[in-house]
Amino acid sequence: MNKSKKIILVSHCILNQNVVVKPYARKQEEFLKFLQNKILNNYGIVQLPCPEMIILGLRRWGHVKDQLEYTGFLKECKKMLLPFVNMIEDYLQNGYEIEGVYGISGSPSCGVNTTCRGTWEGEPSCYESLEDIKSRVKLVSEKGIFMEILELVLKEKAISLKFYDVEEWSEKS
Ligand code: SF4
Repeated sequence: MNKSKKIILVSHCILNQNVVVKPYARKQEEFLKFLQNKILNNYGIVQLPCPEMIILGLRRWGHVKDQLEYTGFLKECKKMLLPFVNMIEDYLQNGYEIEGVYGISGSPSCGVNTTCRGTWEGEPSCYESLEDIKSRVKLVSEKGIFMEILELVLKEKAISLKFYDVEEWSEKS
């Protein structure tokens, strides 16, 4: 059979919810329709690495984007994305279609249209209450740090891809 030459890239946890910070893991089947549609339409699915698990581990606290915007995190993200960007370049140079990159809405790393920001640092005891901590988190209309870096590194190679939050996908789109 001929290759479909059609590719999508997805955030790691769309295929593996085990990496998600506690307690936000969803049932894997929530992504079934999306994945089934892509597979039935013969797309190859490239799974991006999970930056938060690789850098911060499985037992990490939840983070906001502001906490991840430090040089060390940015550098590690860039390092793990470079092989993928090289792969994308190779696909494009060989006539493959990259339909887009699918991220996770609201994630500080993999959000596409929304991410979360907040003035968080230090021990929980620095704050008045749990409500005080929670009230400092805001959803904002920008990419998470990992998607931002992916877009930037692609731009350095003059590559422009479409980015979507998987939650916004529907069979009609
Ligand atoms: S960092 Fe990205 S891949 Fe990892 S759990 Fe969060 S949204 Fe999923």
